[in-house]
Amino acid sequence: MIEFRNEPFTNFEDPANKQAMQAALAKVKSEFGQEYPLIIGGEKIFTERKEKSINPGNLDEIVGLQSQADKTLADQAIHVALETFKTWQYVDPQERAGYLFKAAAAMRRRKFEFAAWMVYEVGKNWSEADADVAEAIDFMEFYGREMIRLGGPQPLVPLEGEDNRLYYIPLGVGVIIPPWNFPLAIMVGMTTAAIVSGNTVVLKPASPSPIIAAKFMELMEEIGLPSGVINFIPGPASEIGDFMVEHPNTRFVSFTGSRDVGLRINERIAKTAQGQTWIKRLVAEMGGKDAVVVDASADPEEAAIGIVQSAFGFQGQKCSAGSRAIIHKDLYDVVLEKVIAKTKTLQIGLPEENYSIGPVIDEKAYNKILKYIEIGKSEGRLVAGGGKAEGNGYYIQPTIFADVKEDAHIMLEEIFGPVLAFYKADSFEKAIEVFNNTEYGLTGALYSNNREHLEYARRHMHCGNLYFNRKCTGALVGVHPFGGFNMSGTDSKAGGRDYLLLFTQGKVVSEKY
Ligand code: GLU
Repeated sequence: MIEFRNEPFTNFEDPANKQAMQAALAKVKSEFGQEYPLIIGGEKIFTERKEKSINPGNLDEIVGLQSQADKTLADQAIHVALETFKTWQYVDPQERAGYLFKAAAAMRRRKFEFAAWMVYEVGKNWSEADADVAEAIDFMEFYGREMIRLGGPQPLVPLEGEDNRLYYIPLGVGVIIPPWNFPLAIMVGMTTAAIVSGNTVVLKPASPSPIIAAKFMELMEEIGLPSGVINFIPGPASEIGDFMVEHPNTRFVSFTGSRDVGLRINERIAKTAQGQTWIKRLVAEMGGKDAVVVDASADPEEAAIGIVQSAFGFQGQKCSAGSRAIIHKDLYDVVLEKVIAKTKTLQIGLPEENYSIGPVIDEKAYNKILKYIEIGKSEGRLVAGGGKAEGNGYYIQPTIFADVKEDAHIMLEEIFGPVLAFYKADSFEKAIEVFNNTEYGLTGALYSNNREHLEYARRHMHCGNLYFNRKCTGALVGVHPFGGFNMSGTDSKAGGRDYLLLFTQGKVVSEKY
């Protein structure tokens, strides 16, 4: 087996890649408006009720129409998953991993096409979409190898006269509820981690991004994944969400999304349903209020670059986004000035034309972010952006507020949009204190050239992914296992060696000679 290596990112400066991306965008556009089914046990079901998936960058474009599950269909899907579990759990781990490797290879061949679907469906620019596909490939390559490792002999202390073995066996039927912001990578990672471990799943893609998930389902059918292992049931969360989570036959829930929904699921699964014979497990990744801290010893130019990338990449719609900049007073003015200047060069426009800044995901997000910008106007000094931007979509200017107090709403609450708050810290220790002043704990960055400060931060900045002298977004599978503390979730490290353990249980068999 070849050692795992991260999928390289595409260089769009290369004319051949640029052309390939343009061709993929044209091909995908020619497929707009098609209808996509639910898939239960391999059967494609077109329902009467369909939801439009709209291009957030051009509201006149319908990317696709997605059939919607109701409770009856969700129940059917859970039943099929339970039946399929009877056989899938015994499929050799090597063979299960083989499906992931095949899917990774097939996705690699159609990289541009998958990226193009995301450009249209969620408004990613080319590089963001390309990185999303690369991460999806990485997850499959990584988890496939991990299952082979866990499926092999496990180290135990030898005991004379006994043969002892530890097996990692699957849990059962899982409910997979992924987010729209990494609509391919995280959806693929959550789903394939569960199935390669021997579970079967019901997959409910995020409402704004069902089509990219439907494309993944097509790929899994193409590579021959047995039907019933992944059952695809898009539908309104209000109708089928609680139902699936509370269903007596579901064994675990893997969720990535908002804090409020995560906490709701946590409460719901704590109650034992009639006929349920297990304690449900929750794997949750729930958000962040991440920050970039800049120490007096930092390189202000490097720090400014990192702050802009962390705050505004994919319009700030990452759990890892650095929505706070906490700057030592000695560098505050110079870093702020540089960040403002760099932000003002970011051009806003259609994702398919590869502008730096595209739209936010939907009307709800658009209104929420604009509301926060209004709140920000009373909590800080507006120094860039400040409202809507031109275009037939949900465009918002990258917005910066300076001189914000540590307990301001925009310093504490997750906005999930292109809004950045600057805080001036009187000392390095105060900067770290403000960094930790949040109920979340996902990512953080520190720019510093002071070894003592870096070591202090290593111990005291309380977050799951801490970066020194680089941006706080862009975790790589295997390199930076990703997940956070407190209200950021269950610290399930996606893309790490512990991740598959969350979808398995250990069984020890001891045989006396
Ligand atoms: N893993 C992504 C990153 O490191 C963020 C994932 C998320 O937004 O949920 O930027």
